[in-house]
Amino acid sequence: MDCLFCKIINKEVSSDIIYEDDKFLAFKDINPKAPIHFLIIPKKHITSINHLQEEDKMLIGELIFLAKKIAEEKNLDGYQLHINVGRNGGQIIDHLHLHLLANK
Ligand code: 5GP
Ligand code: ZN
Repeated sequence: MDCLFCKIINKEVSSDIIYEDDKFLAFKDINPKAPIHFLIIPKKHITSINHLQEEDKMLIGELIFLAKKIAEEKNLDGYQLHINVGRNGGQIIDHLHLHLLANK
């Protein structure tokens, strides 16, 4: 599958990884829109929120929970979580990802 984020997961494309486990990967956005800008992605290829199945409910909960854990570890004093959905929703990469943005 020709998916940039799957290639990042498989280490075919390099990235600045800040967290990895069996289900998720988090790395720095290549074009940060804030002093801290991480992308947190499931290793399972899900195209977007619009493509979630019933079976993905748990995974999406874990994705949000991981964002909280990373924010704690990085001592972030407030942050924003964004998910863009579809071209008209600003989604460019068709592999579900959670943006974590913070000023510190
Ligand atoms: P979207 O607009 O799809 O929600 O966000 C895609 C994000 O991926 C953008 O913020 C963009 O800067 C980031 N991005 C695109 N290509 C790469 C890449 O090759 N490496 C990394 N680390 N981030 C990327
Ligand atoms: Zn993918």
